[in-house]
Amino acid sequence: MTDTLADAPTAVKPINHWIGGLRVAGSSGRSGAVYNPATGRQTGDVDFASAEEVGRAVAAAKAAFPAWRATSLSKRADLFFRIRELFDAHREDIARHLTAEHGKVHTDALGEVARGLEIVEFACGIPHLLKGGYSEQASTGIDVYSIRQPLGVVGGISPFNFPAMVPMWMFAPAIACGNTFVLKPSEKDPSASVFLAELLHEAGLPDGVFNVVHGDKVAVDALLEHPDVTAISFVGSTPVARYIYSTATSNGKRCQALAGAKNHMVVLPDADIDMAADAAVSAGYGSAGERCMAISMVVAVGGAAEPLIDAIKERIPKIKVGPGNEEGVEMGPLITREHRDRVVSYIEKAPSEGAKVVVDGRDGVDGEGFFVNPTLIDEAKPGMSVYDDEIFGPVLGVTRVDTYDEALRLVNENPFGNGTAIFTRDGGVARQFQFDAQAGMVGVNVPIPVPVAYYSFGGWKSSLFGDLHIYGPEGIQFYTRGKVVTSRWPDPATSKVDLGFPQTH
Ligand code: NAD
Repeated sequence: MTDTLADAPTAVKPINHWIGGLRVAGSSGRSGAVYNPATGRQTGDVDFASAEEVGRAVAAAKAAFPAWRATSLSKRADLFFRIRELFDAHREDIARHLTAEHGKVHTDALGEVARGLEIVEFACGIPHLLKGGYSEQASTGIDVYSIRQPLGVVGGISPFNFPAMVPMWMFAPAIACGNTFVLKPSEKDPSASVFLAELLHEAGLPDGVFNVVHGDKVAVDALLEHPDVTAISFVGSTPVARYIYSTATSNGKRCQALAGAKNHMVVLPDADIDMAADAAVSAGYGSAGERCMAISMVVAVGGAAEPLIDAIKERIPKIKVGPGNEEGVEMGPLITREHRDRVVSYIEKAPSEGAKVVVDGRDGVDGEGFFVNPTLIDEAKPGMSVYDDEIFGPVLGVTRVDTYDEALRLVNENPFGNGTAIFTRDGGVARQFQFDAQAGMVGVNVPIPVPVAYYSFGGWKSSLFGDLHIYGPEGIQFYTRGKVVTSRWPDPATSKVDLGFPQTH
């Protein structure tokens, strides 16, 4: 196996599709540049698939489906243990791909791999997860039982910010359930997905069970429209999620589309301010704020505001910003030059909209890398861009309110409902917050409450389109459909014609 990109980070490498167990060079004539965001230099050239190339990947997945779904649960579990071992042995290699193309620092990249591996470990328990129910003697001599069966070929479309973890959230449960899979990863950092494909192949996954096609809207639309694709998992921004959900479902496909976020962290005056400041800084600036579970707005209640802002201000200069592969660096660059410029524009316009830039992340940024330093903006309010938009960068806003009720109102009036958190020492208020907050994931003194693998991940409102959250028990439900069997083995001697509606007896 080659680990080309990590070995030669300055060369421009072709990044190809993975179809039917092989690397396949693109034939559409279209491709996209992949950058090292820390240097601003192009390192890769990724093939963009045409509808015809997507069709080839779907055909490979369709051909692999009958044998794969007939593979016994013990063999599937056995294979998943091997996949787990191989991914585990290559944590560092996967992480290097992430740092090279996404820019996140090596320790953060290792964290991403660890959280993805949790889902692979969950999938090792597939025999237990697919157990159905059985009712003996539902009627006299009749037993009723339920089974869950795979859907067929399923598609996954993933975002740039977790190029390894989000694909694992999708393909591990999907494949373990007996489906075959076509992944369309982000074109901004596509190498990790091909590397994972190579590892799956090496672990012994049959050819065609997992395929990767790169590209843009052309490839996505081809998946959404392909009659042989039965379901689509999507993770990305809200406008695209809305489009994916409506297009996939209008084409008769099952769809879960996880979308953008604006996560609020409420800090009550009784909270441990140092702990809350540590949490806000970690959750606001980790991965340069490019996490859908990042805290982007701190809602400081009453007397919490002044000491909290001071404590955050004190911590910011100590954060080491730089290339993610350098020892000791804690925060890396943003994904693209365009994204950096967009984040800078939010900082620029904040004062004219009435907010106060307390720490300006434009200061001290130089060189060709896509860097913005940690930024703190006070007095952010609904109606301002910094408050309302999903900025997705190292910008932490603070909004001040007088009461818990006002804080709760802000959390619930925000159109997103991905994650939220409360920091307090008062168990009663925390419990009330958990009861009232309109978000899919709530942290109590935990700023980034990403559920462990045996629960499911997903937001509410404009953070998720669809019914089922991703991974965990809801992931298993998403990638299977139910069947109920009513069965009897009568004594032929008792058989007779009966045209009445079947009744229990
Ligand atoms: P994005 O929506 O731009 O892209 C996501 C995927 O959709 C990519 O594979 C991309 O190629 C494809 N795509 C982009 N535009 C498209 C179009 N017009 N038609 C069809 N396909 C298109 O998102 P991104 O910038 O890669 O990722 C960041 C976003 O993802 C943020 O909004 C973040 O909050 C969100 N996100 C959400 C979650 C969650 O669990 N809710 C997790 C991670 C990221």
